[in-house]
Amino acid sequence: MFAFVSQPEAPPDTVGARFSIVRLVKSCTWRGCRWPIGLTFAGLVWMAAISSGQGQTVYQPGQSYFGRSNYIEYIAGDMPVIFSVPHGGSLTPSEIPNRNCAGNSADCATISDGETEELARAIQQAFHSHYGHFPHVIICRLKRTKIDCNRDIREGSAGSVYAQQAWEEFHRYINIASNAVVVSTGRGLYIDLHGQSHPVRRVELGYLLTADQLTNSDATLNQPAFAPLSSFRSLAAQVPIPFAELLRGSNSFGALLLAQGYPAVPNSVMPNTCIGANSTFNPTDQDLYFGGGYNTRLCSSVSQGGPIDGLQVEVNYAGVRDTATNRTRFAAALAQAMEVFFASHYRIDLRTGAALAGGTAGPARFHSDPGLLPPQRPPAEKSL
Ligand SMILES: [Zn+2]
Repeated sequence: MFAFVSQPEAPPDTVGARFSIVRLVKSCTWRGCRWPIGLTFAGLVWMAAISSGQGQTVYQPGQSYFGRSNYIEYIAGDMPVIFSVPHGGSLTPSEIPNRNCAGNSADCATISDGETEELARAIQQAFHSHYGHFPHVIICRLKRTKIDCNRDIREGSAGSVYAQQAWEEFHRYINIASNAVVVSTGRGLYIDLHGQSHPVRRVELGYLLTADQLTNSDATLNQPAFAPLSSFRSLAAQVPIPFAELLRGSNSFGALLLAQGYPAVPNSVMPNTCIGANSTFNPTDQDLYFGGGYNTRLCSSVSQGGPIDGLQVEVNYAGVRDTATNRTRFAAALAQAMEVFFASHYRIDLRTGAALAGGTAGPARFHSDPGLLPPQRPPAEKSL
């Protein structure tokens, strides 16, 4: 049924490594087994299907799985939320040469996003504390001088077969997590987590819209041309509110983070990325905002309108990721914001997995939409 199941787990090169752990999952993963019977049955069918193949991996929520040499870590989840962390790693194995940005894209970089790996682990723990369940977390443990999992594989691996394999594992795990989300709730949210060091201390939320585009009025952003450009393409098509309200209204992700004490642009009082009392747009401000990169484009609904929406979250350092205490505090705030966001827009109760009134959660889309079946290898497999 799934490409990642029907294909051998061995990597495409001659390294001969394979994903290291084969486990069985619990048949009921939400708190108190409160899933609708249909969903549970669908999950069992899925598990039976993937367990029937030889050597197939079935993932236990909360457990870590690793690619070759432990460069890539996947902490399996049972919630419809996926985090990936491409730039927080620290491993510098000698078998992978340092990357050289010469001849690559203008935004080629080798600078790490400090403490984002630690922040992701704090978020994983905070979600479990808040919900009793786990988000999916994919971590690149290699330092960015060795690999960039937020660029295409050519630039990201710089010719190293070992880096190329790690890149493929990173993206394969995102795909595996996306499939699990589709099976369980039908829809979900992918977040590519980064750290930024811009002068203004705030969280930058990237929806694949530029700083320039965000200076448009709500009326302009609500025109049909804009939502399909966004990593929220599918969600925007399903909510009963205008696109601009989804991006920066009272229950937008930015507004919900702001309510928790973390300025996050855009939001209801900072509708665009401009600085200053009147938010007059200054073109130079575009350097002060990351609107979403390779992974957000590749893994979100913008590509084919699939059921997994995407968001690039660029957090500032001081007060968010600089100390264990601050990471824990921000992670708890993020968990609270996510609950309201899912209830408001996906109409999914993140504590139970149940669809709320008016919601469309459920596996029907998965079974009815052949576009959800992923091809075999990244990047083409990123149909989700
Ligand atoms: Zn980054």
